[in-house]
Amino acid sequence: QPVLAVVGRPNVGKSTLVNRILGRREAVVQDVSGVTRDRVAYDALWNGRRFTLLDTGGWEPGAKGMQAAISAQAETAMATADVILLVVDGQVGATAVDEAVARTLRRSDRPVILAATKVDDMRAEGELSALWRLGLGEPHPVSGLHGRGSGDLLDLVLEAMPESPRDDGLLLEGGPRRVALVGKPNVGKSSLLNQLTGESRSVVDPTAGTTTDPVDSLVEIDGETWKIVDTAGLRRKVGQASGTEYYASLRTKAAIEAAEITVLLLDASEPISEQDLRVASQVADAGRALVLAMNKWDLVDEDRRDAMVRELERALVRFPWVERINISAKTGRAVRKLAPAMRTALENWDRRVPTGQLNQWLADIVAATPPPVRGGKQPKILYATQAQNRPPTFVLFTSGFLEAGYRRFLERKLRETFPLTGTPVQINVRVRE
Ligand code: GDP
Repeated sequence: QPVLAVVGRPNVGKSTLVNRILGRREAVVQDVSGVTRDRVAYDALWNGRRFTLLDTGGWEPGAKGMQAAISAQAETAMATADVILLVVDGQVGATAVDEAVARTLRRSDRPVILAATKVDDMRAEGELSALWRLGLGEPHPVSGLHGRGSGDLLDLVLEAMPESPRDDGLLLEGGPRRVALVGKPNVGKSSLLNQLTGESRSVVDPTAGTTTDPVDSLVEIDGETWKIVDTAGLRRKVGQASGTEYYASLRTKAAIEAAEITVLLLDASEPISEQDLRVASQVADAGRALVLAMNKWDLVDEDRRDAMVRELERALVRFPWVERINISAKTGRAVRKLAPAMRTALENWDRRVPTGQLNQWLADIVAATPPPVRGGKQPKILYATQAQNRPPTFVLFTSGFLEAGYRRFLERKLRETFPLTGTPVQINVRVRE
């Protein structure tokens, strides 16, 4: 369902407005599980339409770094919401912080609606017109006290809300987790699929597919049902017909994007190819979880195995976060290790690091190893927030540019502290002027 995010400084009457939206109108109030306390999601109902109300709270009034924290709210809202509601205090008017947030929100491709609270009397209405300069269109007055205007405001919000939520099916869809099984022709994809489905009672049940829609199969692995996407591509060996290289790679890309996790099969009896590395990068760039399966391990001589592992590690330096399993789809060796690795990767892909823990971690790291000085200035890192999961996406607010080397260092340290094996992570830096 569509998501409405509510953003605003403390004490502007945001909570009162949220409660009014949820409470008075007998909206269905229900905590959505899996959401950390620094942003609370509620199921809301208005005029027969359901939506998720995301209250991006989570910081103490008067706490240090208020400006950065509220920008973080805005980033979160922009990353997750279909419509954003910015709440300002109609009696106070636009503060510098409000202006900074508005500046951020103006970059959003989502509709932003401006609400001015505490407009209880004529005097406050005079302030309203001044709010136009936030550049977010007409300010809509509401009174928490009298409840005036909140119904009209919600009508507006619903009007701005798309019929169907933003195209983040991955975030919203439940059901079995979706896996893409990819690798070059003859690497053993079909063999692995047979091995997996043969060992367990498979519930292979192709969902309807057309020539343009890949066919997905439900497969029980290790007691859990998974959806393997594009099994037609595996079974009919589409990629192996002549002249279909291009088609096959497009098909691989589509499978990766349709899935939450990719199991990339590599042939352990050959050196890793450029093509293999490209596919691994594709998975990371698409922001999907990844597990590497070194197939045909039975073909690697016992006394070559150690050297083989070292070689692999060299070839895969760019993917230190990916779990690697040496399997044989032919003999069944270690195939049972695949499902646990997939589970771990997805758990980490889903991970949300609480803001408090994240900032504690950041303070420790920065104290021990501050960012390198640039142009005679030491950039300060003010605040961090996780804007999104699937994959975990972090935003750092800084006073200056952070070098790529230092960003990589932060990612490495982040992975040492929080379990993130199997998932790419993204660290975005926002420099405040
Ligand atoms: P696909 O094109 O990726 O689906 O590959 P297939 O599953 O059809 O396998 C291609 C060939 O490799 C077949 O002859 C398989 O028997 C063989 N093969 C697959 N996995 C293994 C393995 O782990 N060890 C060995 N020795 N051969 C394998």
